Amino acid sequence: MHLRKRIMVTGGAGFLGSHLCEKLLNRGDDVLCVDNFFTGTKDNILHLMKNPHFEVMRHDVTFPLYVEVDEIYNLACPASPIHYQHDPVQTTKTAVHGAINMLGLAKRVGAKILQASTSEVYGDPEVHPQPESYRGNVNPIGPRACYDEGKRCAETLFFDYHRQSNLRIRVARIFNTYGPRMHPNDGRVVSNFIVQALKGEPITLYGDGTQTRSFCYVDDLIEGLVRLMDAKDSVTGPVNLGNPGEFTIRELAETVVRLVGRKGKKPAFKKKPLPADDPLQRCPDIRLAKKVLEWAPKVRLEEGLKKTIPYFRDIVARG
Ligand code: NAD
Ligand code: UDP
Ligand code: UDP
Repeated sequence: MHLRKRIMVTGGAGFLGSHLCEKLLNRGDDVLCVDNFFTGTKDNILHLMKNPHFEVMRHDVTFPLYVEVDEIYNLACPASPIHYQHDPVQTTKTAVHGAINMLGLAKRVGAKILQASTSEVYGDPEVHPQPESYRGNVNPIGPRACYDEGKRCAETLFFDYHRQSNLRIRVARIFNTYGPRMHPNDGRVVSNFIVQALKGEPITLYGDGTQTRSFCYVDDLIEGLVRLMDAKDSVTGPVNLGNPGEFTIRELAETVVRLVGRKGKKPAFKKKPLPADDPLQRCPDIRLAKKVLEWAPKVRLEEGLKKTIPYFRDIVARG
């Protein structure tokens, strides 16, 4: 029998958080979703609201929080460059003060705590693909630093609480993830390209489109997060979670346009300059996750895009 655990998900009304809340509820846990609704929405969790084991709290994690829980998934943080650069100081505060508060809470109640870290800790990587042992190449004063350095400092805090206070920690380094409930206006490449293709608009290609990313479908990622939380306590991470299938941004554009079904149409591109500090390549080395979590993504890019396009089709149709 599965014992019902009290699990808190910060950022639970966001893209990844809402899928995580859903999975934990389906498994039979009590879920407390904590979110300030900066980028998350009630729409993402509306379908869970009727479940008596689901609770939502409007709260900003940069402020202390006193609740009693068994496990904490700390996802609260804007994730797309447009959102995290909107108020960069608040982004660093969310990453750093948010981590301190959630770690303080975990320490007080003896909860296990998982941090949603990011491939951005590797910056514009000089080692490819990126293993967890690579220490990264991050610009500490650039426009992406509020996020990248905030997340790096959060990892530092997790490991110091672990060493200093014996906290049970898990750190997941999440690589680009996509799927339904991604924010349609967050400027990320998958959402931008799908929406543009659906509207018959030119595809905005930053740079020459030869930069690469590796895209993980949301269900695979959530499975990895839960496995990491459930792993034995010696598995602290950091563990890369992502799909090692690597594509150029131009290949992604061509695939999206083909799948959206503008028949015989070659994508029309609108070239834009490559943003500052935009990493040229990114691909996870997932050997550690395979070994310690027996996890590997199952959904290939085309299949995942086919599951994602209908979500955006509905949004575009509603205007
Ligand atoms: P998202 O923007 O959809 O979700 C983030 C959630 O956090 C939102 O619901 C937002 O309202 C909430 N939030 C932001 N600041 C908060 C604060 N101060 N207090 C409380 N809630 C706050 O983004 P996402 O893609 O679901 O990302 C979730 C987590 O995963 C983030 O920590 C992000 O850094 C990490 N991550 C995501 C990806 C990805 O590809 N989606 C990749 C790497 C890491
Ligand atoms: N904290 C919290 N909830 C708790 C316990 C602590 O939000 O249940 C916050 C608290 O405000 C503190 C932070 O977590 O600022 C760090 O807590 P810790 O006990 O590690 O440090 P200290 O209180 O000694 O600064
Ligand atoms: N990108 C693009 N066109 C867009 C949005 C993004 O060419 O409309 C590029 C962007 O420059 C980057 C890649 O796609 O090289 C992924 O961008 P995203 O913001 O999704 O994620 P991140 O840079 O954080 O990996």
